[in-house]
This record gives sequence, C-alpha cells and structure tokens, in this order.
Amino acid sequence: MSATDAIPGSDAARAEARRALEICNACRYCEGYCAVFPAMTRRRAFADGDLDHLANLCHNCRGCYHACQYAPPHEFALNLPRALADVRQQSWADYAWPGFLARAFRDRGAGLAVLLVLAVAAMFWLAGAVSGSGGGFYALIPHGAMVAVFAPVFLFALLAMAVGGARYWRATRDLGAAPAHGLHHAMTLTNLKGGAAEGCNFEDGDRFSQARRHFHQATLWGFLLCFAATAAGTVLHYGFGAPAPYDLVSLPKLFGVPGGILLVIGAGGLLWLKRRADPALGVSRGAGGESAFTVLLFLTGLTGLALYALRQTPAMPALLILHLGAVLALFLALPYTKMVHGLYRTLALIRDEGEKRKTKP
Ligand code: SF4
Ligand code: SF4
Repeated sequence: MSATDAIPGSDAARAEARRALEICNACRYCEGYCAVFPAMTRRRAFADGDLDHLANLCHNCRGCYHACQYAPPHEFALNLPRALADVRQQSWADYAWPGFLARAFRDRGAGLAVLLVLAVAAMFWLAGAVSGSGGGFYALIPHGAMVAVFAPVFLFALLAMAVGGARYWRATRDLGAAPAHGLHHAMTLTNLKGGAAEGCNFEDGDRFSQARRHFHQATLWGFLLCFAATAAGTVLHYGFGAPAPYDLVSLPKLFGVPGGILLVIGAGGLLWLKRRADPALGVSRGAGGESAFTVLLFLTGLTGLALYALRQTPAMPALLILHLGAVLALFLALPYTKMVHGLYRTLALIRDEGEKRKTKP
C-alpha cells in the first residue's frame, strides 16, 4: 500500500474514522442499521485494514448520522458517514494499480471531462484514419479497428481491477469468505434498506426513502445488461458470422435497449439525489469526481439509445463517435473512479459474511 503515504490527508482520514468508530463501539445505539455496526462490535481496536474493510461495508445511507446524539453540535462532532466515506475513497487509491493513475482521477471531475474529450477526439481520428467497408457502423469505423482499440483498454481495466481486488482480498484474508451470501447482499443492496427496511436517509435528512436503492439498482442492472449486449454481439459476430446491425428481436438489442434505459434512469436519478443530499455527509473532497463518473454513465446510456433510435439518419456518424468516446472513457476510468466501489463493496460483503460465520459461537 505504498500510495497511502503519498496522498496527503490519508493518515488524518483514518485517524478520524478510528476516533468515530471507537465512540460508536462504546455507544452501539445503531447496531441494527447496517453491516458496519455488527462488524465493528467484533473488534476492540481498528487497524488500517479494519478501517478499509468497514469503510467499504458502509453504503453511505446516512441513517446513523441522523440517529446520532453525538453529531454536531455535540462536542464529539461525530460524522460517521463522512469519516467512512473519506477512508473508503482513500482505500481505493491505496489498492489501485498503477497508483499514479488513481491519484490523477481520484477527486477531479475535470480529469474525467478531459478524458472524455480525448476519447471522443480519438474516435474522430480513428474514423478519419481508417475507411470501412460494408454497411451501418462499420462503414465509418471497421469492426477490426474497434476491437483493436477497445479490447486492450478493456483488458487493462480488468487487470487493474483484479490487482486492486487481490490487494484488498489479501489485506482482509483473516476474515474468511462466504461468496453466495455476500453476492446476494451486493445485488439486492440490503444495506440500503435501513435497519427497519424503510430505506435510507441519503437525500431527505431524517426522512426514510427507497429512492437511492432503486436508482442504484437501475444503474447496476443497466450496466450489466449493456455489458451482456456487447458480449452477445461479440459471440454473434465471431461465433455465428452475424455482424451488427441487429434487429430489435435479437440478444444484443433485447439486452442493450432495456439496459440503456435503466442506465439513463438510474444514473440520472442518482445525480438528482446527489444534488438534494447534504454534501457534509459525503467525502470531504472529491465529490465532483464522483458526480463526473455518474455523468459519464448517464452519457454512455443516452448516446447508446440515441444511436439506436437515429441509426438510419444523418446523425448516425456523430452519435457513433460520441457513444464510442463515452464507452472508451468509461473503460479507462473504471478502476480509478467511484465505479470501482462496486468491486470493493462486493468483496467487503463477501468477507463480512465469512467473518460472521467464523465468529459465530
Ligand atoms: S453513530 Fe452515534 S448513535 Fe450511532 S452508534 Fe455511533 S455514536 Fe452511537
Ligand atoms: S452511513 Fe449507513 S451504511 Fe454507513 S455506517 Fe452509517 S448506517 Fe451504516
């Protein structure tokens, strides 16, 4: 974890989280709220690895803050959601590979905007440099050229996330693992239901709401369906000699169209909720980078849908370039932005379930 020392504020973030968790461990009022509190009570002290694990278990629902008698203006000024959000963000940078890229994008929305512009420009260049044959999209950019650009970028993103995930997995190896239960909690977002299954307090102060959970699930399933659409198109192209474009009644479209709609609704909804939420309960710096990534997800879904709707109009070339640029930027940013929270949270939930089993009397 060499990046820890290189990033200013990492020690302060962990010290504040440790202070907050020690107070919570004495209080325990919020025990039933989420997975963080039972996991916290299984510890007497909080090493850096424990802090990273607990921070990635936290879903920033903010319920504990609104229940807390030690929150400001109390002199303890306890803000557990922010303390864990700061450590969580720090942990992604610490485990990331290569670390210098994590620092470039970690908390800069402008970095992502530049990346998007560069990716779109690269697609313009590609369209001008190669001439396609055949019809549809491949007349603009041949299939082979798309594969030559996207395959290495995607494989690099997978490798980077695998390295980061393996580092986290090694750091928490003593906790055990229960993959089926952990995955179940990750896919159903159990921890955003709140202690009484009424939802979380993300955007509405002390009023409970299921909106964040629903928008989050739309984003998750939208992303997975879009990925399935791309995989189905690849299999049809190489396995069955059936290149794009595809009819509406085909696997790429049956996955891709609902996936794009869910992605737009989910990412758009999350952005809307973020505007209503209290910034003092999220990361102390880097919220712009988080929002920028959600904007990128939204743009990817929107340009994909627009491309499908207008594929036989003169707008097709511009939309194709915009969509491919957004997808390229998305792939490049996956391991170094908020998107990576899906990986670490899933691993944390798998570890948490494993730890529960190991420590069961
Ligand atoms: S957040 Fe506040 S009320 Fe909840 S356990 Fe911690 S100290 Fe107690
Ligand atoms: S913000 Fe929500 S998920 Fe995070 S520790 Fe508090 S209650 Fe748990």
